[in-house]
Amino acid sequence: MGLVEPWIEHFFVGPLQMRCSVVTDRLTGDTVVVDGGDEPDRIIAWIERFEGRGPDWSTGPTSLADAQSMNVPLRKVVALVNTHAHFDHSGFIPVLSEHFKVDWYLHPDDTFLQTLAQQSGRRYGLSLPEPAVADQHLVPDSTMMFGSIPIRVLHTPGHTLGGCCLLVNVEDDADHVFVGDTLFQGSVGRTDIAHSGGDFELLASSIHTQLWPLALDTVVHPGHGPLTTIGQERATNPFVGDDAGDGVYGFGKYA
Ligand SMILES: [Zn+2]
Ligand SMILES: [Zn+2]
Repeated sequence: MGLVEPWIEHFFVGPLQMRCSVVTDRLTGDTVVVDGGDEPDRIIAWIERFEGRGPDWSTGPTSLADAQSMNVPLRKVVALVNTHAHFDHSGFIPVLSEHFKVDWYLHPDDTFLQTLAQQSGRRYGLSLPEPAVADQHLVPDSTMMFGSIPIRVLHTPGHTLGGCCLLVNVEDDADHVFVGDTLFQGSVGRTDIAHSGGDFELLASSIHTQLWPLALDTVVHPGHGPLTTIGQERATNPFVGDDAGDGVYGFGKYA
């Protein structure tokens, strides 16, 4: 069973304009925050009270009045989930964890990387809290239930060792996959970032085996830049698309 008309919001946060995605089951109000890497106050104010700047993109209500007229339930954050542990995606998780008092999920192969978040952030002039330690591990090839929200975990190492893509199956409509920095519109994640275990061959293999089998209309939500679809990237991506052969080595655009 997939979600019915999931309510999805994007917040571009922090100096690298990383896409934090908030996924809500509009029947139950259960909410998962994917990659809550920065601007925690903005995210909390919006989820709880529809206050402040709000999201940059949304498939749901865009004001309190809107929410009341659509009769959406109060939201309850049930989990924080990360695609990977680069600081732009995970640096402010401790603030969200402390506020929502829910478990944070990460693939265990990114645990070491997470310990370096503060020092990586410093290079961008950011003062980050003491790094979070994941409460729970993402389990590849399983569908994990976060409240009423089922998310299938696809392990896609290559940008980082523990990188995962998170697939939300939707009833009667296109599915959504949150890919972090594994795949972008017309590009792929960098494989040259220190301490990350980046490897282009591995990244290309992860994309070919884990993402390309998904339905062509699956909406791809990358960690940076525009939305795309599996079909569009298979047809046009110069690094890993169907015409790229074994792939061509290149440094992607984003950290
Ligand atoms: Zn990133
Ligand atoms: Zn990254």
